[in-house]
Order: sequence, then structure tokens, then C-alpha cells
Amino acid sequence: MLKLAMFDTKPYDRAAFEAIQGDFDVDIKFFDANLTEDTVSLADGYDAVIPFVNDTVNDRVIDALASRNIKLVALRCAGYNNVDLRAAKDKITVMRVPAYSPYAVAEHAMAMLLTIIRRTHKAYIRTRDFNFSLSGMVGFDLHGKTVGVIGTGRIGRVFIDICRGFGMRVIAYDVYPAKDSGIEYVSLNDLFRQSDIISLHCPLTEDTHHLINGYSMQYMKKGVVIVNTSRGALIDAEALLSGIKSRQIGAACLDVYEEEGDVFFEDFSGHIMEDDTLARLISMPNVLVTSHQAFLTQEALANIAQTTLQNVTDFFAGKTNGNEVR
Ligand code: NAD
Repeated sequence: MLKLAMFDTKPYDRAAFEAIQGDFDVDIKFFDANLTEDTVSLADGYDAVIPFVNDTVNDRVIDALASRNIKLVALRCAGYNNVDLRAAKDKITVMRVPAYSPYAVAEHAMAMLLTIIRRTHKAYIRTRDFNFSLSGMVGFDLHGKTVGVIGTGRIGRVFIDICRGFGMRVIAYDVYPAKDSGIEYVSLNDLFRQSDIISLHCPLTEDTHHLINGYSMQYMKKGVVIVNTSRGALIDAEALLSGIKSRQIGAACLDVYEEEGDVFFEDFSGHIMEDDTLARLISMPNVLVTSHQAFLTQEALANIAQTTLQNVTDFFAGKTNGNEVR
């Protein structure tokens, strides 16, 4: 039986893995702790580790795992920007769950967009306090607006379909435009200039780090709405805050945040928030922050558990299944 160490485990992760664990020849130990240089010793005696988005899989963690004879890092997510692939090469195999529910993430992006432009988050609080005033609640129609989608992979394309259902004009930018997709591709600069709403669906790489920054914001329409359900560091958070303050940015929907690893997924309600930029962004009436929850649907959790355990099983059976990250 394969022994697996799962890090940063929350009750909903555990429930999804426990529901199907019996279908595989595995024994999973669920650790609450994040995988870091300090906690990597917990992986002693296991065959593989199962990290999530905010676990640290840098060169030192990889060396520590390899020295414990661990052969596999089975990420239970799609993005792998938290893994030092160069360090992993020839030492340890990295696998991921490339797709578990593009609908979960794309639908959350639209939910955030609708919330911020129609102020439903404010309405919920007001009416609970029997405040039925509509002052300050004026929104705008999505119908007829131009949405710029950066990254037209699995999630971006579902988001495009949703936007089309709302009667929006969709333009897109991707380094690898999808052929015969009927998507109107434009240059990144044209996307910045024409979009009323910009939604990010590309991975975080060296090329996309701080794609939205003080410089690129200058080219955007005044009052543009930015939606980020991809990775926090696609946006320079300080520059975004300045853009919000100067009114250049009309609103921002952030499911991810550059420094989220220190706070997301945990309850800090009784603590002083140390991150001034995050605290200031959250204090803005036109910024909506969710805690990297776009993936969090029953369907996605079940698919993540299934594919992760299939990845582990295939790897130890000597099979490649296409989910290896190189
Ligand atoms: P995907 O691989 O199917 O699509 C990514 C697209 O981005 C591809 O078409 C690719 O060509 C494009 N791309 C790559 N580099 C680019 C660049 N420099 N500029 C523009 N486009 C570029 O990935 P996906 O499944 O659609 O996921 C997209 C991202 O969503 C992931 O990278 C991940 O970071 C994020 N994600 C977030 C959550 C969440 O819960 N918030 C969940 C899953 C995925």
C-alpha cells in the first residue's frame, strides 16, 4: 500500500479524498501544516507528497524530499508556479491535476464580476440591517460591454462562453491563440485599450508576472474592472491600489493575491492584519476579495481527489498519463 502525505489539508479536502480512498491502494496521512522547509520532515517514511497551491516546493524542499527517497510530488491543483521545476529535474517527478472543473473557476469569476458591478455584497449587508436605501447602488449593464480575456485555455474559454451569454463583446489575448475558435484575438495593448472589463486566465510565469502594473494600467480605459481568478502575482498589488485610489481602475475582483500564501485559507478574524496593501484593498468599496475559492465546488473537489490518486497509482505502476509537469 502506498503511503501518501497530504499537506495544507482542510476538512473539505479530507472529505473528498476519504470518499474515494478505498478505490485505490493508498494510505493517506492528512497534515494541517503547509509543506515548507520547516515541515518537510513530516514526509519521512512516505512514498509521495500531495501539496496544494500555497505549499512551498522550492529547491530546498525538493532536496529534502529527494533525500527521504520520495519520488513523487502529486500536486492537487492545476497551477505549478510554486514548484521549482529546474530543481526537481532528475530528482523527483511532479504531477498535477490539469483540469478538474473549468466551470467552477469561470462561474466564480462571473459571480465576482456581477457582485461588484451590481453591489449585491453591499445589498446583502444593508437589507440585513433593514436599510432599504438604494443610494450608492447604481451599477451598469454587462450587455454590450467589451470584456478582454487574457488566456484562452480551459477556464478562459468557459468564461468567454458565459460572457457571450450576457451579450458582451469578447476580445482576447493568448500567446497561443486557439485555432478555429471564433474568438477575436487582439494584441495585449489593444485589449488594454478597448476593454471595459479585463479577466485574467493565463498561468503565472516569468512573462506574465505583474502583467497588470502601473505602466499597463495607463493604457486601460478609465474605470476598467479587473477580475483575477488565476494567480495573484499577475497583478502588481501596490500598483492596483494606486489605480483604485486614482479612479483609473473602477473595481477589482480578486480571488487570488500576490502574498496570499501568508493568509489565505486561514481565519485571521481575531488578529491584526499585517499586510497593509491587502488590508487597504479590502477596505475599498469597489474591491471584492475571495480567498482562492474559485475552485471550491463539489464537482471540482471530487475530480481533484480522483485525478490525484490516479496520478499516484499510475506513477508507481510505471505508467505516464500526461499529467507530468516538465
Ligand atoms: P490552461 O493551461 O488550459 O490555459 C492557460 C492559457 O493561458 C493557455 O491558452 C496558454 O496559451 C495561455 N497563456 C500562457 N502564457 C500566456 C501569456 N504570457 N499571455 C497570455 N496567455 C498565456 O489553464 P486553465 O486550466 O485555463 O487555468 C488558467 C489558470 O487559472 C491556471 O494557470 C491557474 O493559475 C488558475 N487557476 C485558478 C484557480 C482558482 O481556484 N482560483 C483554479 C484553477 C486554476
